[in-house]
Amino acid sequence: AARNPGQPEYVQAVTEVIDSLWPFISEHPRYAEHGLLDRLVEAERIIQFRVCWVDDQGQVQVNRGYRVQHSSAIGPYKGGMRFHPSVSPSILKFLAFEQTLKNALTTLPMGGGKGGSDFDPKGRSPGEVMRFCQAFMTELFRHIGGDTDVPAGDIGVGAREVGYMAGMMKKLSNRADCVFTGKGLSFGGSLMRPEATGYGTVYFAQEMLRRAGKSLEGMRVTVSGSGNVAQYAVEKAMALGAKVVSVSDSSGTVHDAQGFTPAKLAELMEVKNHLYGRVSDYAQRTGAEFLPGRNPWKIPADVALPCATQNELDEQDARTLVANGVQCVAEGANMPATLAAVHVLEEARVLYAPGKASNAGGVATSGLEMSQNAMRLSWPREEVDARLLTIMQGIHAACVQHGARPDGTVSYVRGANIAGFVKVADAMIAQGII
Ligand code: NDP
Repeated sequence: AARNPGQPEYVQAVTEVIDSLWPFISEHPRYAEHGLLDRLVEAERIIQFRVCWVDDQGQVQVNRGYRVQHSSAIGPYKGGMRFHPSVSPSILKFLAFEQTLKNALTTLPMGGGKGGSDFDPKGRSPGEVMRFCQAFMTELFRHIGGDTDVPAGDIGVGAREVGYMAGMMKKLSNRADCVFTGKGLSFGGSLMRPEATGYGTVYFAQEMLRRAGKSLEGMRVTVSGSGNVAQYAVEKAMALGAKVVSVSDSSGTVHDAQGFTPAKLAELMEVKNHLYGRVSDYAQRTGAEFLPGRNPWKIPADVALPCATQNELDEQDARTLVANGVQCVAEGANMPATLAAVHVLEEARVLYAPGKASNAGGVATSGLEMSQNAMRLSWPREEVDARLLTIMQGIHAACVQHGARPDGTVSYVRGANIAGFVKVADAMIAQGII
């Protein structure tokens, strides 16, 4: 904490990882040698830059842009870009650190990075969003590359923004290699990439439940968020027979006791993806119950899928979930549960998956997009989906291997942290002190 003053999210993420690694490192002291841990918690490079652009009123706007290149131990830096007013060095450092371990878990050769800007896309015209993305790339382009650093989307950065940034990258570099993933299908994108994080989260929940002799069929599921991850988590949970009873955004929660249907999800996607509206607009159009200012965690559920943002599920929320009989919590978002909430869920022996395990399907499919681009071909949807499922099952197995408790249950937190750490640490040791 002393080395990272004023960076609570980064300290939180590192604390969670180091706490759960500690017993393992005591048993395997070579991982404490050569300053390995000190090196692992220090980003290799952090770039901060000014982004100037002109809004629709002719006013000059100044934002901050960042790229945190955390670790290249096992491959090029890889991780999304976030556009949100809350973006800060602390948030991006925590995301890049988590990304490093997550990418290792996928078994694909990708290092960890994260970037973004405090730019707020809400209420901005399409022209303003494009000009911002282009201005952003006039600096970022010199720091990234297909074998150096390959960004993707995240909060506030979807297919539209990735397209604008990838287009500007190509113009500035005069190269068409894969420098972004999450691209449109017409210029190198992978089938299934939009679905991958949400689907992967549900695949992971399904694996946890299966190991416990249960299934998603007939379970009540609460989902938070209503963006890319949430939408496809809803879709896959419904397809596997679950009853999804909520979605949310920063203005409140839609509670649908009857459960979402494909038609309702199509309406939500229309409101969020094409009209850039709020879940309250969705509620108004469909007559669904809207709970202003509330998150979904008081709604009784068997499975909870937090898919919005960091620290959206606190200790009290976790206690409420447990009191209401929740059996499984799988994180679609990054670090949505606070440290205290994680303790409550693990103590209660809820099947709890940290984001670095359960939401790794997105970056895994980005890795598959890089492979397809390198081969200059495009795999069919079924092939990408089958690979995604296999990767999620592999991550689940790695968590079980390293996280099994004496009572037969699994700490997915410990399992994910150890499995990811071992791969990165071994690569760092082999490459010497650099
Ligand atoms: P989107 O921008 O598509 O959606 C974000 C959703 O979260 C929106 O519904 C947004 O609501 C809500 N949200 C954001 N901030 C808050 C807040 N402070 N309180 C309540 N709700 C909030 O982003 P994604 O779906 O891509 O990302 C969601 C999470 O998943 C993030 O944690 C991201 O890092 C993680 N993730 C994403 C991956 C991907 O492939 N996209 C991969 C792995 C992880 P509002 O519109 O009101 O802001």
